[in-house]
Amino acid sequence: MAFELPPLPYDYAALEPTIDEATMKLHHDKHHAAYVANLNGAVDKHPDLGKKTPEELLQNLDSVPEDVRAVVRNNGGGHVNHTMFWQIMKPKGGGTPTGDIGSQIDTDFGSFEDFKKKFNEAAAKQFGSGWGWLVYKGGKLEIITTPNQDNPLSQGLFPILGNDVWEHAYYLKYNNRRPEYLAAWWDVVNWDEVNKRFTQAKK
Ligand code: MN
Repeated sequence: MAFELPPLPYDYAALEPTIDEATMKLHHDKHHAAYVANLNGAVDKHPDLGKKTPEELLQNLDSVPEDVRAVVRNNGGGHVNHTMFWQIMKPKGGGTPTGDIGSQIDTDFGSFEDFKKKFNEAAAKQFGSGWGWLVYKGGKLEIITTPNQDNPLSQGLFPILGNDVWEHAYYLKYNNRRPEYLAAWWDVVNWDEVNKRFTQAKK
């Protein structure tokens, strides 16, 4: 297989009570696994695609053969988005952001509280399934949202942090209360990993 499902970097129950064990099992073992399987299905038809990283595929969707372009966009996106998502969370995470990303958030949004409010509002408003993102554009942090599994890489932007607002990410525990999930999610953010991604975004 060209692409593989990465193991979850902690136990399914490790993010309790913020994210419940049942949600993590389904989200990783079923949803993420399906994106990887579907992406590999596209590689079966066009083996050259397997020579690229999934990030490279998303950065150059125009170069992906038309008959599998939507499959790669949706499932390559699903794979890359979720691989990041597991990494930017950790048990006993949260707190005030540290390091360079902490100071950049203060510079560009005034304070961490103001940033969270703005991010949560944007992600709450994303109609239907999608993601809320923090990206770095023209020397400044910016909050954007995308529908479905679209990744900022396809717009030439590097995702520093992203939260999944598909119902599968929160419905078992929070039901239709997306804003409650968004508010709670910051308790599991891994700011060390987000700082690494910010360094990469600045390159
Ligand atoms: Mn998801």
